[in-house]
Amino acid sequence: MREFDRKRILVTGGAGFLGSHLCERLVEAGHDVLCVDNFFTGTRENVAHLIPRSNFELMRHDVTFPLYVEVDEIYNLACPASPVHYQYDPVRTTKTSVHGAINMLGLAKRLRAKIFQASTSEVYGDARVHPQKEDYWGHVNPIGPRSCYDEGKRCAETLFADYRRQYGLEIRIARIFNTYGPRMHPADGRVVSNFMVQALSGEPLTVYGDGSQTRSLCYVDDMIDGFVALMDAPDGTCDPVNLGNPHEITMLELAERIARATGSASPITFRPLPIDDPWHRRPDISSARALIGWEPRTALDEGLAATAGYFRAQLAHARHDGRGAPPHGSSLTFIQPGSRASKAL
Ligand code: NAD
Ligand code: UDP
Ligand code: UDP
Repeated sequence: MREFDRKRILVTGGAGFLGSHLCERLVEAGHDVLCVDNFFTGTRENVAHLIPRSNFELMRHDVTFPLYVEVDEIYNLACPASPVHYQYDPVRTTKTSVHGAINMLGLAKRLRAKIFQASTSEVYGDARVHPQKEDYWGHVNPIGPRSCYDEGKRCAETLFADYRRQYGLEIRIARIFNTYGPRMHPADGRVVSNFMVQALSGEPLTVYGDGSQTRSLCYVDDMIDGFVALMDAPDGTCDPVNLGNPHEITMLELAERIARATGSASPITFRPLPIDDPWHRRPDISSARALIGWEPRTALDEGLAATAGYFRAQLAHARHDGRGAPPHGSSLTFIQPGSRASKAL
């Protein structure tokens, strides 16, 4: 990379699922990457392969505290993302979204750095509009078990919009829809990780409710393409942009597809639907197509096959270590008080 194009880039939450893929992409492109993480749900293993690289640095830090570093761009991903993880310590989840956004925006303001926020489709809540477009304001319960995440992320968007209006910051807001792939935490309780671990361990696949609720699943490599394209979009691309795969699928069909992808004979079992579980979710990605020429390319079965390879290796590794199969978040009460979410594996 030419010295002129080389940037110093901060990735908060860089040791997590999406963050580690983003760090890898930016390191490969030749940028100087500073990965900041408090290892609540992320792990050093996720970025261990980057440590020997001279353009990668790992720092343990909690974004709810101020951070004084010198960078050109900031990707703010720090926040637990799975319902099991973000409901484990809901007050901390809100603090991470809100105080974390304030600190990272303060940093961006001092440095006049461009800043990207990992927002979420959860800002639409249990949407009454389908598919969801960026101009839909959402249908969110402000006091339910998911609110710490949904409202925290909504407040972070407000802060981003106000730092832009008040201080002229160059901001990017990606509303990320469900994303899956290698390096998901096997114990995060998300639907893909649960079904993968269950299918590969020969346990029943736990479908919540009757499985007719839908999600639209995007493969991680496609999502990272979207992050970088949005960050690099022309100045002024500051409105929120949906990033996700518009291909919508019921959770029952997903269970069947994962059983097929893993060659598993596990049966399907039904469990109660968690409170406030959104019924339908599908992004309208016409803004992403028009503004950054982005759309996902990976077909679901292709992405599931790659993801199954990762989970198979994780399980083999756990067995080799004598740990047996990792416990997984089979319900939203999986994480027991007193145990950190990150210790669940
Ligand atoms: P993840 O849990 O794997 O990663 C989050 C990372 O943030 C972890 O490494 C964690 O240790 C770190 N972190 C948490 N609190 C922190 C704090 N206070 N200070 C520093 N680091 C902290 O989750 P992910 O799936 O990689 O999600 C990354 C981001 O993308 C999150 O902001 C999430 O809300 C957003 N997002 C993800 C999805 C998805 O489907 N994966 C969907 C919508 C939005
Ligand atoms: N901040 C930071 N790093 C910096 C600059 C600011 O972490 O390089 C934090 C600091 O904790 C501050 C917050 O960002 O409280 C918001 O900064 P801003 O300048 O917007 O507000 P103020 O300092 O006036 O509260
Ligand atoms: N789900 C399921 N079985 C599981 C885990 C989740 O049926 O073992 C359902 C969950 O109720 C939701 C969907 O799968 O309807 C996606 O859940 P996830 O936690 O992955 O993400 P969400 O989109 O709810 O944040």
